[in-house]
Amino acid sequence: MSSTPTASRRPPMLATSEALSRLLDAARRVEGRERVATLDAQNRVLAADVTSPLDVPPMHTSSMDGYAVRAADLAGATESAPVALPVSQRIPAGHAAEPLAAGTAARIFTGATVPPGADTVVMQEMAQVSDDRRVAFAQTPAAGEWITRQGADIRRDSVILPAGTRLTPQALGLAASVGCAQLDVVRRVRVAIFFTGDELRMPGEPLEPGAIYNSNRFTLSALLAKLGCDVTDLGIVPDRLDATRETLRRAAIDHDLILTCGGVSVGEEDHVKPAVEAEGRISMWQIAMKPGKPLAFGAVRRGASVSEAYFIGLPGNPVSSFCTFLLFVRPFLLRLAGGENVAPRVYSMRADFSQKKGDRRNEFLRARVNESGGLDLFENQSSAVLTSTVWGDGLIDNPPNHAISEGEIVRFIPFSELMR
Ligand code: AMP
Ligand code: MG
Repeated sequence: MSSTPTASRRPPMLATSEALSRLLDAARRVEGRERVATLDAQNRVLAADVTSPLDVPPMHTSSMDGYAVRAADLAGATESAPVALPVSQRIPAGHAAEPLAAGTAARIFTGATVPPGADTVVMQEMAQVSDDRRVAFAQTPAAGEWITRQGADIRRDSVILPAGTRLTPQALGLAASVGCAQLDVVRRVRVAIFFTGDELRMPGEPLEPGAIYNSNRFTLSALLAKLGCDVTDLGIVPDRLDATRETLRRAAIDHDLILTCGGVSVGEEDHVKPAVEAEGRISMWQIAMKPGKPLAFGAVRRGASVSEAYFIGLPGNPVSSFCTFLLFVRPFLLRLAGGENVAPRVYSMRADFSQKKGDRRNEFLRARVNESGGLDLFENQSSAVLTSTVWGDGLIDNPPNHAISEGEIVRFIPFSELMR
C-alpha cells in the first residue's frame, strides 16, 4: 500500500481583516465601572453617556474687548459722520450685566455677559474713545458681530460624549465645560504579560554568548500603559512546558487578558501553544500578514471556576510583536474596555518609492512621511530590525501580491493613529 506524502501542506492563512473581525467578535466588555475625577480620567472609556445640564456658553458672551451696542443705534455711522454714544456701564468677565439703555454703549470684555438689549459687539480697535463716558463709532457694524450665542457650543440636555468614548484631553475639557467633576468609566482592563525565551536578558544584566535583550518588554509595556491597562508583568518564563503552564494558571486568576510574547510557533522550543491547550483552549492562526504571521488566540481557565481569561500569543520577533500588538491587541483591548471606535484612521498617500515584487501576504511596511508629503520606505523590512519602527511614522497596509510603483497612492496608517 502506498502512502501519500503529507509534508509541506501549509495550514490555510487567514486574511488580516478576517482575523481581526474574529478577534473583535470574541471580545466582551469587562464588567464593572467606577467613578473617577475628571482630572484623572484621561484614556479611560465612558461607561455612560455624558449629558449636559446647561447651555455652553450659559449666556451670550462677548468674544472681543470692545463695546456692546444695539446695531440700529449705529445705522449710518461713517468716517465723516461718526455716531457717538454715552457709555452706560462697564462689564468685565464674571460680572452681571444690566439691560442696555437705548442709545448707549456698554464697555465690555472678552468672555463677559452681553447685556440684555445689546445685539452686537464692536471691537475696541474700531471705537474712538474720547473719555470714560463717551465713545464714537465710524462704521455701522453687522448685527450679531463678536457675540458667542448662548448654547453655541453645547445645548442643554444634549449628549456631549456617548458611552464608549475614550477620553482624550479634549473630551475631558468638554466634560468639564458642562461642570462634570467626576465621570463614570469602565474599570481598567487587567492584563498579565510574560515573555518566553531562554535567550532573553534584561537591560542591566550581562549579555553572555547567545543572549539578547528583552526589548519587547519595553515596547509592549509602554503600549499597554498608553491604553490605560492595569498591567502585571510576570517577566521572562523559561522555555519549558511546566513553567509556561504554571505561569498561565497564575496569570488567569486576576486578569482579563494574558498576553505572551515569543514561543508561539510550532518548533520544539515553542511551548506556549501546548501550554495554553492544556490549561484552556487555543486557536492558532496563520495570518496572511508580514511581519507577524503566527498569532495565537484562546482562553485559559480560572482555577476550578467556569470563567476564563482571554489569551493572545504574539510572535517574538520585535517588529512582529509591535505590529501585531498595534493591529490586533490594541483594538481587542479597546473593545474589552467598552470602546466603540477601535479602527485606526487610514490615509491615502503617495509612495515615493517602488517595490517591484508583491509578497503573497498582506505587508505592513515601515514608512516615513517626507517633506513633499509622500512616503519613503525603510530599506530593511526584516521583522528583526526594530530600527525601522523608530525611523518610521507608520505602516503602509499593502495588500497581498501587490507591487508598488512610484507615485502610486497607498494606504498609510500613522503610528499616531495606532497609539491613540
Ligand atoms: P520566537 O517567537 O520565540 O520564535 O522568537 C522569534 C525571534 O524573536 C527570536 O530571534 C527571538 O530571540 C526573538 N525574541 C523573542 N522574544 C523576544 C523579546 N522579548 N525581545 C526581543 N527579541 C525577542
Ligand atoms: Mg523563542
